[in-house]
Amino acid sequence: MSYRAPVAEMVFAMRHVAGLDRAIAEELHGDLSLDLVETILEEAGKFANEELAPLNRSGDLEGLAFKDGAVAMPRGFKEAYRAWTAAGWNALPGPEAYGGQGLPTLLNSACVEMWNSACMSFGLAPLLTMGGVEALAQHGSDELKGRYLAKVVSGDWTATMNLTEPQAGSDLNAIRSRAERASDGTYRITGSKIFITYGEHDMVDNIVHLVLARLPDAPPGNRGISLFLVPKFLVNPDGSLGARNDARAHSIEHKLGIHASPTCTMVYGDKGGAVAYLVGEENRGLACMFTMMNLARLAVGLQGVGIAERATQQAMAYAQERKQGRAIGAKDSSPIIAHPDVRRMVMTMRALTRAARAICYATAAAIDASHGDGDAAKAASERAALLTPVAKAFSTDIGVEVASLGVQVHGGMGFIEETGAAQHYRDARIAAIYEGTNGIQALDLVTRKLPLAGGDAVRSYLDDLRRTVKAVRAANDPAFGLTGTRLAEAVDSLERATTWLLARLEREPQAAQAGATPYLRLFGNAAGGCMLADEALAAVRRTDPSAASRIGIARFFAEHLAVQASGLERAVTEGADIVNADAALG
Ligand SMILES: Cc1cc2nc3c(=O)[nH]c(=O)nc-3n(C[C@H](O)[C@H](O)[C@H](O)COP(=O)(O)OP(=O)(O)OC[C@H]3O[C@@H](n4cnc5c(N)ncnc54)[C@H](O)[C@@H]3O)c2cc1C
Repeated sequence: MSYRAPVAEMVFAMRHVAGLDRAIAEELHGDLSLDLVETILEEAGKFANEELAPLNRSGDLEGLAFKDGAVAMPRGFKEAYRAWTAAGWNALPGPEAYGGQGLPTLLNSACVEMWNSACMSFGLAPLLTMGGVEALAQHGSDELKGRYLAKVVSGDWTATMNLTEPQAGSDLNAIRSRAERASDGTYRITGSKIFITYGEHDMVDNIVHLVLARLPDAPPGNRGISLFLVPKFLVNPDGSLGARNDARAHSIEHKLGIHASPTCTMVYGDKGGAVAYLVGEENRGLACMFTMMNLARLAVGLQGVGIAERATQQAMAYAQERKQGRAIGAKDSSPIIAHPDVRRMVMTMRALTRAARAICYATAAAIDASHGDGDAAKAASERAALLTPVAKAFSTDIGVEVASLGVQVHGGMGFIEETGAAQHYRDARIAAIYEGTNGIQALDLVTRKLPLAGGDAVRSYLDDLRRTVKAVRAANDPAFGLTGTRLAEAVDSLERATTWLLARLEREPQAAQAGATPYLRLFGNAAGGCMLADEALAAVRRTDPSAASRIGIARFFAEHLAVQASGLERAVTEGADIVNADAALG
């Protein structure tokens, strides 16, 4: 089934959850206007619908060919990538000094969602390249930026992120790749990395690998890791490509999904050492990599939204077309959307997708507002830090759930590959694993983000959620049903669980960690529910034609999904003992 980028829906979420109107009015993004945002997103949608979406199934079926260290992409990918970069899409968020358009993360987030909805395997290449731009722009020396950045901003060259080694996945302290200082100020890298996305491919002339490695005199642990730029081809001072570097792909993985995205084992320095350039300072590599990883985490969250959106569109179309059984009171066979259980499934898909989109866009807006100095930028930076793990993990968890519901709505046809519903489910699965597993995101939220500003960052967020609850109640509109009550209960649960965790972080870290994942889900439920209510209230205020359906989605979320909050709260506050005992594993 084809994909239609939901541009109007995206713009609505950007304006009424992510504060786009205010940002434009305050000239946070220079002279960016709403018209321009809409035009850009319409064009992006056209590209996603017409050029990328058709590659999704063919790329999945054809897969990749690996021979003598080279990866051949499936038919059509190279041409689509070149047309995509030529149209300027890679450069959209890049720094203007290096040929980028300097447009906001929020606007790019909507585009990232589209690329990944249309074809997640394709979307992964720019996802990492844009992260590479960020790391280089913020931490690279002027010389390094001068030689590499413009090509990576344009997408003429792609970038990779090389963290993982067989013994170092979630635990980057265990990295063993070595870096030696060379006499000319460069470095030589030896070691191997596994699972490197787009580590090798034939869509571009050069690949810029960002590699974590240790210097011989580095302190142990994560304070001894440095970040290096290792090009596939060395670059001459005039910008032309020079010799092939001592860096190659040894093999590619055979995977559950994203069959058209090359996941490579990379070998560095088996001919004496790959020429490398330091990014940032020695031993400060993890901090530099985190610059890249925070944006990449948001982008992976958007992959979850993208897959969920496409699965929802497909399930909705199938449910309207497929006839089976008679709905209560009907004379003839009915489309399955007439059956309450199918309606429930499709509504769940739609509500979760929109909630995750709203959380991701709010995170993107906070990132945009965090640039600069002053109290407002500091508060925005804390908000972005708080929401990033939720954007990543909630959105990718629901990506899997929504894609699974999509299979279910299709019945047996969902299990058969031809419909494409099964591919969404297979593709969605990885997003909960890479860029820091969702378990690691939950730990990040609980152990690093809750204590931000002495707990004030999360408390100020809770205040914002309460304002929404109050506004729903004040609207006093019967169409909202129990929305106000259920959201108030969800926010109460989130507040109690937050207080419980903050009190235990130091005293009983085992107990706090045991509740991290249910807490993150509770956070996503309360935040997502309130954001859908914000959208509904905005539509009512504006007498927008979508008001009734927005109230419907907000109400469904509150009455069917936000109600899970009290159970999640209990899992956090009452469920730690059994997790930390051995009984259930015996
Ligand atoms: C298709 C694909 C593409 C990838 N692309 C890249 C890439 O481009 N670059 C790159 O560097 N890496 C990449 N990765 C690697 C990916 O980021 C790692 O697989 C991921 O970080 C998890 O590491 P691991 O596989 O070693 O799992 P492990 O770290 O062994 O984790 C196994 C399980 O234990 C849990 N766990 C581990 N430690 C803890 C802890 N302290 N507390 C609680 N739970 C814990 C995890 O949550 C997980 O559930 C990719 C992986 C795949 C499959």
